[in-house]
Amino acid sequence: MTNIRKYYLGIDLGGTFIKGGIVDDAGKILLRDKVPTESEMGADAVVANIVTLCKSLMEKADLSVSELVGVGVGVPGTADSERGEVTYANNLGWKNFPIADQLSEDLGLPVKIVNDASAAALGESKFGCGKGYRHVVMITLGTGVGGGLMLDGKLFEGNRSAGAELGHVVVMAGGEPCTCGRRGCLEAYASATALIRDTKRAMERDPESKLWEIGSLDAVTGKTAFDYLDKDESAREVVERYIEMLGVGIVDIANLIRPEIIILGGGVCHEGDRLIRPLQEMLDREIHGGDIGPAVKIVTAELGNDAGLLGAAALLM
Ligand SMILES: [Zn+2]
Repeated sequence: MTNIRKYYLGIDLGGTFIKGGIVDDAGKILLRDKVPTESEMGADAVVANIVTLCKSLMEKADLSVSELVGVGVGVPGTADSERGEVTYANNLGWKNFPIADQLSEDLGLPVKIVNDASAAALGESKFGCGKGYRHVVMITLGTGVGGGLMLDGKLFEGNRSAGAELGHVVVMAGGEPCTCGRRGCLEAYASATALIRDTKRAMERDPESKLWEIGSLDAVTGKTAFDYLDKDESAREVVERYIEMLGVGIVDIANLIRPEIIILGGGVCHEGDRLIRPLQEMLDREIHGGDIGPAVKIVTAELGNDAGLLGAAALLM
């Protein structure tokens, strides 16, 4: 055989579901499946669910332990990749949990862990739109705002993997309260949660707004304001403010890192050009040195929900 492929297990551990896949060294997902996380049953039950998922994937793919290089796990929280320990995961209720050792013992395979946003950054850098770049910033706009950094072609996580918290740079001193305890963090303005909050506030302020066509405040999602962008003044204000605040964060991060590319992931990035174009204009205008360059390109993620799983697998490549 000339093309001997290597196989990896990639796991995307989420608050609700554990997604897993068998990945080859070209970043192709050969087989995938998911099981409920059941974090309310405790950390050991979650580990047991990951083990069951891994074993069932190996069985379906007809791969034995000796044919796999190892397992990579993306974790929603601070994951000390060197120690293999989840330092803190609010979503799962975990503190200092040595997940890698437990999984490795149960599966008989090497296990590596990483924060989920870093996993997405690694996945996009290796197999997605960050391919070929040396300095990549990934910002995920979801329930929270996550960050991942590839510097000089390597994942940068900071001391004990507690860095790259791009969602918790302050863009407005004394601003909106953040989940981290500070005020005015990027996450408090640029997460889908913040967008929903601001859309609801705009509706409450403006009883005549067309946004009320959706029925009630409970029907507001992270898409609502964008859906009414061209039809309603209040919606337009919400979107413009959202982009302005996200833009402030992006320019700051670009000035600090000066990457070649900034990848936006998460649900909000589905707005595509309506989001990217004004952000790119603001970045080009405000970045240090202006048009002297080098320019920083903003793009939307390419791998979608697979970025985390592929990045987790890539930990062992
Ligand atoms: Zn914060």
